[in-house]
Amino acid sequence: MKQAFCIWGLSLFLFVAVGFVAVRDTQILWLVNGQHRLSAEYTPPELVSVRGFLLRPEAAVAFAAMEVAMKRDGVYGLRLQSAYRPYAKQQALYKRKHAASQAQNLVAPPGASEHQLGLAVDVTIDGALNAAFGETAAGEWLQQHAAAFGFVLRYPKEKTAVTGISYEPWHLRYVGVPHALYMHAHRLTLEEYIAHIMEETRLLAPDGTQIAYVNALESLPAGEISSLFPESEAGFVVTRPQVVSITNHLGACFGRNLQIDQTTGSFFAYIVQRFSNSVDRVSGKVA
Ligand SMILES: [Zn+2]
Repeated sequence: MKQAFCIWGLSLFLFVAVGFVAVRDTQILWLVNGQHRLSAEYTPPELVSVRGFLLRPEAAVAFAAMEVAMKRDGVYGLRLQSAYRPYAKQQALYKRKHAASQAQNLVAPPGASEHQLGLAVDVTIDGALNAAFGETAAGEWLQQHAAAFGFVLRYPKEKTAVTGISYEPWHLRYVGVPHALYMHAHRLTLEEYIAHIMEETRLLAPDGTQIAYVNALESLPAGEISSLFPESEAGFVVTRPQVVSITNHLGACFGRNLQIDQTTGSFFAYIVQRFSNSVDRVSGKVA
């Protein structure tokens, strides 16, 4: 676990050190389901290969870190079964299953699958994707620890009425660490979490990250920005890591407590403030 936190600490540090150079819509929180669909043309901004499967770089790095932590905890055998799936492939899959009358609740219609985002993975230990996976050591480990790496179990057993999808212990969605930790702590699906953010407008993630909902581009504070839906701009979520939590991450990374005194803390705050003031706040959709 420590190594994973180390990776996260460093990447967060770089994020701040670089000073929010480019403000862009990460799309990391996009809610994709039967009501909110991706267009046939949508492709993720960037994809990288993980053992032959394509994922967005953020999700790929997080997945690799999670695998390391899992093995360190003595849980072996997890493998990727599916990751990025283009619209056409989802369409073919849906048609094939539909012909066999199995599509309902098992295969999302084209445009309604998170796999098209490049942020979702299906994992397995024996090639089977079924409820029994949730009872395995790997399935149980993921239920406990996936959130620390930014992944959520997207279709929990007790939330099928909310998601409209059967229990899928093998399907993980990357949403980023602070959001995953919040959803995990409050037992929220992505549908519920997005409604919650829009209602509350300010949240504090368990790792100290500040999360804010703003409905206009002009009022965007500095931070990582994601819109919420693929088909409409109903506002943005701004995620702003706390300087203190970054230094704590770094301390954990080096295996000791960094004694960050008031002066150093103020210096970091100054740097963040300085750079965040100088960025161009105009964000564009990458899609
Ligand atoms: Zn899946």
